[in-house]
Amino acid sequence: MKFCRRQVLTGGVAGGMVLAGSLLGARPVAAAQALAGRQVPGIYRLGVGDIEVTAILDGYIDLGIELFPSADAEEVTRLQRANFVPVGPSVRGAVNAFVVNTGEKLVIVDAGARDLMGPTLGQLPANLEAAGIDPEAVDVVALTHMHPDHIGGIVTANGAAVFPNAELVVHTDDWNFWMSPEIMEKANEQGKMFFQAAQAAGTPYAKRLRQIGDDAEVVPGIRSVALPGHTPGHTGYMISSGDQSLLIWADIVNAAILQFPHPDWAIAFDISPEVAIATRRRTFEMAATERLMIAGMHVPFPGIGHVVRDGGFRFVPVSWNYEL
Ligand SMILES: [Zn+2]
Repeated sequence: MKFCRRQVLTGGVAGGMVLAGSLLGARPVAAAQALAGRQVPGIYRLGVGDIEVTAILDGYIDLGIELFPSADAEEVTRLQRANFVPVGPSVRGAVNAFVVNTGEKLVIVDAGARDLMGPTLGQLPANLEAAGIDPEAVDVVALTHMHPDHIGGIVTANGAAVFPNAELVVHTDDWNFWMSPEIMEKANEQGKMFFQAAQAAGTPYAKRLRQIGDDAEVVPGIRSVALPGHTPGHTGYMISSGDQSLLIWADIVNAAILQFPHPDWAIAFDISPEVAIATRRRTFEMAATERLMIAGMHVPFPGIGHVVRDGGFRFVPVSWNYEL
């Protein structure tokens, strides 16, 4: 239905008054409704050419400001106020995963934290079900890196594969890093837990593991993009179909309200902070210049939108898609 100016000027206003009157007359007199008390399922679909991408929410995580050693306290307060979020010692971020259906292959990029990082995460299985996606139908699990908030959900607490028919695709540099007993030995206690989680997640897929490098084809329509720094093999995935593209950029951003304006505020989990900062700046520049749509694991759900220059940089989220 389309409206034009003449309709508004002639019938529209009177029609509107009638409508308002009927609504007033139909006002319910029933008792108050019980509050729902919970959010709707965390799923969002987007078309990229002939490919369908579904953002799946695993939950949220509150990151303490102390995890950003370069962050200036006054500037953090200013940004919290400017973004209408609580002013305090942490910032809240989503944990997203993305399912890519190329029409030929069903690929999931990361799978959330399961129960490895507290009760605010681990909603991926319920949201996959709400999206009508059967884990047994997934052909490929493509990992951006092997941190617990990305790999926890590929394996059950008992060590079984959540995606029993899927090949596991991971960058060689990340696999070798997290599977190394020598590197694990040098890590602190929290670091060792990260290694243990990565090894537990990789084990049930060991027989159907495909290690990849930079700019490798995962399946037709999906290629790896080297984004090192956060971890040695931190990898994005470029989804391309026709003249449309979407870069799933993993953890280029950990805290959106802090790192878009301040790309040099590295998070303590970065294995190589200097490299991570350079990669973030380069990726922001590329996305802004090319007007490339991006999808981020920790950008507010659904985590999809564009980067624009704005002094520093600014994120512009997608609007709701009515049609894919
Ligand atoms: Zn992460």
